[in-house]
Amino acid sequence: MSGPDIEADPGTVYLVGSGPGDPDLLTVKANRLLEAADVVLHDKLPGPEIIEALPEDRREDVGKRAGGERTPQSEINERLVELAREGKSVVRLKGGDSFVFGRGGEEAEYLAAHEVPFEVVPAVTSAIAAPAVAGIPVTHRDHASSVSFVTGHEDPTKEESAVDWDALAATGGTIVVLMGVGRLPDYTAALLEAGMAPETPVALVERGTWPGQRVATGTLETIVDARDEAGIEPPAVTVIGDVAGTRELVVDFLQNDYGAAADETAESGD
Ligand code: SAH
Repeated sequence: MSGPDIEADPGTVYLVGSGPGDPDLLTVKANRLLEAADVVLHDKLPGPEIIEALPEDRREDVGKRAGGERTPQSEINERLVELAREGKSVVRLKGGDSFVFGRGGEEAEYLAAHEVPFEVVPAVTSAIAAPAVAGIPVTHRDHASSVSFVTGHEDPTKEESAVDWDALAATGGTIVVLMGVGRLPDYTAALLEAGMAPETPVALVERGTWPGQRVATGTLETIVDARDEAGIEPPAVTVIGDVAGTRELVVDFLQNDYGAAADETAESGD
């Protein structure tokens, strides 16, 4: 262990990842900071169990404003600086790891530009953990020597799509798509067009490690139907590649039963 209890320094911002949602997967350091900080700024992604454990008088939900739209990142950045300048110790709590599609990099840049001291506290990303608790290793000696983490938020048909699906298809490695429930039909089509085999296994893991986690499985050709049948909704990760097919070899003995009952339902259509 790393010596005395971590205190949260006044005037400092801690960019803390919460892990995928199970409070037992918070790091020891994240836990200590959550206890010590004057204020915790969070959105919904850390999941209900972690958020509800935070005392209400020390937390601010900066995820959504009234009316349902997202709080602009600029407002969150300003709030971080404001609280730090008031001398508060501030935890900015993000789902998964703050630096994996978590805008942690933008927040770090903003804090540095405003001369606010900050610390980064890395965490377990859902990109690895959600597949793992569903029985899917993102790499495997027999199946995948590389893994790519990509955003599914982009329109693959857009001229200047920031994600090169052709290049991803060519890696032969695992592709893990975050924010990719809605555009699943678009990027599975792009991967098929790029020459990936239609029978390539695909799994969707919804709310990994949350109560009620669900998994739907299929292939590049069938996963859209599997998604619709199971009614899979965000947050979910999509795992594309042969590793997704190894799940069926282990699932009967897998004891990560965050949502075993729902899992059955999701797959009853296979
Ligand atoms: N920083 C986060 C990712 C933020 S982007 C991380 O490292 O995990 C938001 C996306 O993360 C969601 O759309 C979903 O794809 C994924 N995600 C986050 N938590 C998840 C969870 N518990 N189960 C499945 N997917 C999750």
